[in-house]
Amino acid sequence: MLSKEKIGIVWFRNDLRISDHQALLKATETCSKVVCFYCLDDAMFLPTPWGFKKTAKFRVQFLLETLQQILQDLEQLNITLIIETGNTVLTLSHWIKKLSCTDLFFQKEWTQEEAITENQLKAQVSPSVQFHSFYDQFLIHPDDLPFSVEALPKVFTEFRKAIEKFSSVRQSIPPINSKSIENKLDFVSPVPSIKDLGYSPFTQHFHSAFPFKGGSKAALERMNSYYWETHKVSYYKKTRNGLIGKDYSSKFSPWLANGSISARQLYWELKRYELEVEKNESTYWLIFELYWRDFFKYVSLKFGNSIFKLSGILQKQYDWKKSLNEFQRWSMGQTSEPFVNASMIELKKTGWMSNRGRQNTASYLARNMKIDWRIGAAYFESLLLDYDVHSNYGNWMYVAGVGNDPRDRVFNVRLQAERYDPHGKFQSIWNQNQLFE
Ligand SMILES: Cc1cc2nc3c(=O)[nH]c(=O)nc-3n(C[C@H](O)[C@H](O)[C@H](O)COP(=O)(O)OP(=O)(O)OC[C@H]3O[C@@H](n4cnc5c(N)ncnc54)[C@H](O)[C@@H]3O)c2cc1C
Repeated sequence: MLSKEKIGIVWFRNDLRISDHQALLKATETCSKVVCFYCLDDAMFLPTPWGFKKTAKFRVQFLLETLQQILQDLEQLNITLIIETGNTVLTLSHWIKKLSCTDLFFQKEWTQEEAITENQLKAQVSPSVQFHSFYDQFLIHPDDLPFSVEALPKVFTEFRKAIEKFSSVRQSIPPINSKSIENKLDFVSPVPSIKDLGYSPFTQHFHSAFPFKGGSKAALERMNSYYWETHKVSYYKKTRNGLIGKDYSSKFSPWLANGSISARQLYWELKRYELEVEKNESTYWLIFELYWRDFFKYVSLKFGNSIFKLSGILQKQYDWKKSLNEFQRWSMGQTSEPFVNASMIELKKTGWMSNRGRQNTASYLARNMKIDWRIGAAYFESLLLDYDVHSNYGNWMYVAGVGNDPRDRVFNVRLQAERYDPHGKFQSIWNQNQLFE
């Protein structure tokens, strides 16, 4: 039964969808009034000490498209989305007060910057405001793990085998029924333009391997196309190390990163595909990769801020350099390795890089050039459309030899180029692009 006096705010973070959304469901089930809130926090746009912004234009544009979509989707539910710019704590606490909000609902985040924001917010608002947070970003919910987070296996294979044997993926959360609640505020907050946020408008590069838009609708269209229309998912294991074009891998990551689609939605639709079309090594492998995503989330949940430390979760010491010049050679695609350069130019021009490219460029910076891997991670954080704190820092630690790789490998980028780009097509696309633009 609805309690009349409960007024809820759903605070969106990296969960920008209305379906399969625990916080939104709980708010609409328990409150008589519900509004949603998102803040484009100034901190996202600050410069880093290495001469680039914390967030480059690609992810900003993608985020604005995502907000446009969720604004429309909430409109359909007759729920207001308040979009603010500035400081999350100040703007959100202002609305909590103004609306006499009793309950705040949000996705639980635990990494440093997100945890600080949550703690500051708690300190800023009346203690009577109830905070309800949910782990909604995992494929396997933390409560369904066969071990405690503290006992997370060090190596991915052990983690995967344990969850495959003892855990299962929860069903997606039922759709929202907002009919019985009073939601609409007499308040319109349009999505700002990229210019409003201090960036120059741009068009997507014609060679981009990610020629898609932000938002749940585009995410569902991609899933539909990758599974049902083209059946590309049936060949994923053979194509996933590709470098050119939109279909060598799923390209789900940017939508997963800001939560326009959930891992559970992708999983259950794939299960349906397996029943109705086919189940093979490739369909399994996509799930296998989604387990990697969970694994790095659990690594950061277990190890906290160690994922941002130079010696990583292994507390392993190497001789690292901090040369800005050397770093710039790498980031601009001006090393002596054409394969590394091509991937770095692709990243700079499109906000996308293949998994193969990421492994090689990261290994080259950390293991060959011996530059502090965190500068590379911060650069990826800025540029990547799919930046996700757990996957980014987890993978960087792994490649840099301070994470979860028991083999401590260094990639031989020349051999990798021969194997994955035997005719040099990928390298010529991007290295020529550098010359002519
Ligand atoms: C140095 C480095 C940095 C990375 N930074 C990020 C990042 O910030 N955000 C991010 O989402 N991925 C990151 N990855 C992982 C991986 O490269 C991307 O997830 C993948 O390339 C995205 O393309 P896709 O969606 O087509 O993947 P697919 O190959 O189609 O895989 C499907 C999904 O599985 C998950 N996945 C696949 N590989 C990995 C992996 N190695 N680790 C974690 N999840 C994985 C992703 O959610 C992906 O969308 C990084 C990898 C490296 C080596």
